[in-house]
Amino acid sequence: MKSLNNDYYNPLFSHIYVEKDVLDHPRTQEILRHFPNAVVIEIIHYKDVFCRRGQQYLLQHNSQNLIIAQKEDNFLYEGAPVCQSFGNSWFYYTSCMMNCVYNCEYCYLKGMYPSGNMVAFVNLEDTFTEVENRLKEHELYICVSYDTDLLAVENIFGYTAEWAEFVKKHDNLKIEVRTKSANKRFFEEHEPSSGMITAFTLSPQYVIDAYEHKTPTLKARLSCIKLAIDKGFQVRLAFDPMIYCKDWRKQYSDMLKEVFESIDMQRVIDVSVGSFRISQDYLKNMRRSEPYSAVVQFPYENEKGVYQYPKRIMQEMEHFLVGELSRAIPAEKIFLWKE
Ligand code: SF4
Repeated sequence: MKSLNNDYYNPLFSHIYVEKDVLDHPRTQEILRHFPNAVVIEIIHYKDVFCRRGQQYLLQHNSQNLIIAQKEDNFLYEGAPVCQSFGNSWFYYTSCMMNCVYNCEYCYLKGMYPSGNMVAFVNLEDTFTEVENRLKEHELYICVSYDTDLLAVENIFGYTAEWAEFVKKHDNLKIEVRTKSANKRFFEEHEPSSGMITAFTLSPQYVIDAYEHKTPTLKARLSCIKLAIDKGFQVRLAFDPMIYCKDWRKQYSDMLKEVFESIDMQRVIDVSVGSFRISQDYLKNMRRSEPYSAVVQFPYENEKGVYQYPKRIMQEMEHFLVGELSRAIPAEKIFLWKE
């Protein structure tokens, strides 16, 4: 599958399932407006479609549909141990959308969810209320684009803009919006704030072509990052996950050369580095659904329930990248993922 240069990925959902209780919700109506030809099917609960037995993730993803629903609980989750907290003590994430329009072969969502369909929860206000309650007790660092890529579909849902407005009202809240998109329009149309960090995931073009299907090229992502920085947005670069390939050293060197030529690294707030790792249960599910994927079928080593590259490969790759990055950015700004 080719990667894309466009700002947004425009999914063509042929069927949209909508929970009866949110059919008249203004966000539901706004989302539906983007899909005048879709067949709209009323349902009682999103799990009736999302958790249907016998769904195979990949097949589902290739004919991905949308489910519009209401989130009932679990508005905030504690950050998972395989995720980077960047030194923040109160690290949480939210899931106002599940699944992604992109199709990275190594994506843990394929091992986590029973279906490739996307779910959008329209009751964002309930998450905001929960966040405000917690903020009365302590500061928060929340990753709002973990189980999806919000910026990739911002033109349809507008959730990043809603979070960006919300964060401006709360001094003790910091959010991270992680993306592989090249959504220039968002940065052109919005103003930066100190509470919002946009974390752009970068990979060598070889890895993008081989494994990050439907995502923008490295060139397009870098051009978007440059614009975001120039507009004053706080930008993090995530070289995570690093993916092993035959000539990985050359691929990652060539990528860094392009990064350093395109971006003023002094204006990047920090970078993260981490080789691919995934919980054993997720990988087990993924191996069943992707029998021919080199990245999924790689003989990873199981370290306390987490599959990762053999130590030698992992250390070589991470040390190499950290070494190269330290030429361009102070060591204290480089966060290397540790168990
Ligand atoms: S962009 Fe992220 S969330 Fe989306 S498919 Fe790729 S890894 Fe998964």
